[in-house]
Amino acid sequence: MTEKRQIWGRIQSSLPEAFGETVYKGWLKFLTFEEDLGGKIVLSVPSRFIRDWITSRYLKKLSEIWTQESPGVHTIEIIARAMEEPTKAAPEELKIDDSPNKYLLENVTSGLDPRFTFENFVVGKPNELAYAAARRVAESDQVYFNPLFLYGGVGLGKTHLMHAVAWYLHKMHPKRRVIYMSAEKFMYQFIRALRLKNIISFREQLRSVDVLMIDDVQFISGKDSTQEEFFHTFNSLVDQKRQIILSADKSPSDLQGIEERMRSRLGWGLVADIHPSTYELRLGILQSKAENLPIPIPKEILEFLAHKVTSNIRELEGALNRILAHATLVGGEISLETTQDVLRDLLRANEKHVTIEEIQRHVAEHYNIRIGDMHSTKRARTVARPRQIAMYLCKQLTSKSLPEIGRKFGGRDHTTVIHAVKTVEALSSADPSLRDDVTLLRRMLGH
Ligand code: ADP
Ligand code: MG
Repeated sequence: MTEKRQIWGRIQSSLPEAFGETVYKGWLKFLTFEEDLGGKIVLSVPSRFIRDWITSRYLKKLSEIWTQESPGVHTIEIIARAMEEPTKAAPEELKIDDSPNKYLLENVTSGLDPRFTFENFVVGKPNELAYAAARRVAESDQVYFNPLFLYGGVGLGKTHLMHAVAWYLHKMHPKRRVIYMSAEKFMYQFIRALRLKNIISFREQLRSVDVLMIDDVQFISGKDSTQEEFFHTFNSLVDQKRQIILSADKSPSDLQGIEERMRSRLGWGLVADIHPSTYELRLGILQSKAENLPIPIPKEILEFLAHKVTSNIRELEGALNRILAHATLVGGEISLETTQDVLRDLLRANEKHVTIEEIQRHVAEHYNIRIGDMHSTKRARTVARPRQIAMYLCKQLTSKSLPEIGRKFGGRDHTTVIHAVKTVEALSSADPSLRDDVTLLRRMLGH
């Protein structure tokens, strides 16, 4: 018996080399010698989960190593020691586990923003797919697509949708175990668990959930051991048909620093992107927020904001809050002037920097003339009018001086530009179709 124990000691020290450091540290190092039953050796690990994992993946090779070292040994059995894996039926067991990681599963809702519900999410073209997918995942008992991968730029509602799923499940299926955390928190918890030698508990909690949501997974990229851990957790949950929801600022194929096998698995389920917001969606969001405000906000102000604050929804909300704060603190009516005043810095940051060349190209395309006509001396109305409109837009939408604008239009004089601006202004008030053209062009140029 002691002899087998010694043999185990030798085998143990060869395991990192035989299986690789990661597998050893993650799994095999938990193996302890229990019993020598002649041809059969019993090893133990701290949980059923680890037992199953090792048995399904590494047992065959482990047995071969044993047989080489000690030809009489033909069977290796791995048993789970006392600390059992929590089962689905008895989530309370988690609460008895007093490891420092226990709070991973406790009270999902404490990390959720109460405003981020499905009810408060305004659906429009840019986010309808992501919304429908999130709703489907929340409402169905089956796993249709795994993972659900939501991606899109900053402040477009990814976190909102994930919280909404968690709130929904909390309300409708309070027994289901849901973990929502940011990728940063995942990393932090993982590293902490490693340090506190708590990795088993960390792992088991993650792998015993019904729904795992990790927000902003782009932050996991590059950090090897965390990525590895995440990958194993991911695979194990997919194998058990548990739902995973991930978000990132890029699609799986554009994520940097992610291992290839990981990248391809991320794209296995449904990849739903949230597009940049449209004017209609921004206005819709503002209207729905404004409904719940103590002070009415004039429609034209909401339209102005939807028009001007285009970067992301978070900034849009920020703008609305600032106007509200101003009105509440300083009093007075909310006018376009005060709005512009209060939001000056924000509006400047949101200003699109259109170039003279872009304006010329758009206008030329719109009127179906050649871009060279912008510089030419042709005076035919069909060419001259669009050229004047382009000059007008350059004056309105760029910070270029009149002489600079003139130069870019075939070396014209600044007085020609002034004349063009005046002409277009006069025509705009007299000719609705020209006014519509100008408005449309402004829109196309992002203003
Ligand atoms: P992301 O996680 O994509 O960076 P968030 O989910 O944090 O963005 O959204 C930023 C803010 O914009 C939040 O306050 C959120 O409630 C709001 N928001 C985004 N999209 C919508 C929407 N479609 N309807 C209502 N609010 C939205
Ligand atoms: Mg977010």
